[in-house]
Amino acid sequence: MQILFDDKFIPRNQARVDIEDRGYQFGDGIYEVIRVYGGKMFCLEAHLRRFAKSASEIRMELPHSPERLQILLEELVRTNGLTEGNVYLQASRGTAPRNHPFPEHCRSQVVAYTMEASRPLQTLKEGIRAITDRDIRWLRCDIKSLNLLGAVLAKQNAVDRGCQEAILHRDGRVTEGSSTNVFMVREGTLITHPADNLILHGITREVVLELAREEGIPVREEAPSVEALFRADEVFITSTTMEVAPVISIDGRTVGEGSPGPVTRRLQNAFEKQIGKK
Ligand code: PLP
Repeated sequence: MQILFDDKFIPRNQARVDIEDRGYQFGDGIYEVIRVYGGKMFCLEAHLRRFAKSASEIRMELPHSPERLQILLEELVRTNGLTEGNVYLQASRGTAPRNHPFPEHCRSQVVAYTMEASRPLQTLKEGIRAITDRDIRWLRCDIKSLNLLGAVLAKQNAVDRGCQEAILHRDGRVTEGSSTNVFMVREGTLITHPADNLILHGITREVVLELAREEGIPVREEAPSVEALFRADEVFITSTTMEVAPVISIDGRTVGEGSPGPVTRRLQNAFEKQIGKK
């Protein structure tokens, strides 16, 4: 397998990360995960826009323009013959003697590689179990940064309790999942946290909101309380790799009928049609 390293393609086992790479030592960097369907990257432009935005928010200069990066990533997918899977793309601020402030002479380091993965078809049909957990992350969750310890700890708490996702809450309000956005349906209305600094502005979230509008499903972007989440008719999570996944239980309590609800199904069907179009 070839990986993209700066602007070269090299075999994966030849890539080396310096011990003073700032992504490695400080989590000083950003990333994206892009889904590949039928050999084509889904919503690639939106991912590259968010990547550039994350870079600018942490005052990091990227070595490639979005246009150049698109060409490189397309070549990577082609070279590795990836048809179903994901592309992982990251940029660290680069390598310099360990010190917190931005180094003066430091070039950001881009790495990308491909992973084969089939679609989560069983999960889409049967749904997942979730827990609730306190959102202990920082206040810039809109930046897709390499600092994922808050998400790692929350996801592990879910796994420890036999679940697949942790739904996070801050001051009694649901923000998002450890690696997903969270939606609930109450009396036919779709409710999800607004795209502010407390959540990642998910690309799948945006696609789902657009599809909901096209389907005539009323949408409210506001943070539901944890209590409201428990009383919801339907709950689902979205992400690049999980797509639109129903949540059938939270903290051991059944959501709705305990099976994927009608609004979730409608959005799943609409999403299915969207695959390959964007
Ligand atoms: N929220 C968080 C915290 C995430 O890490 C992710 C994806 O990794 C998402 C939401 C979903 O974002 P996207 O739909 O762009 O994959």
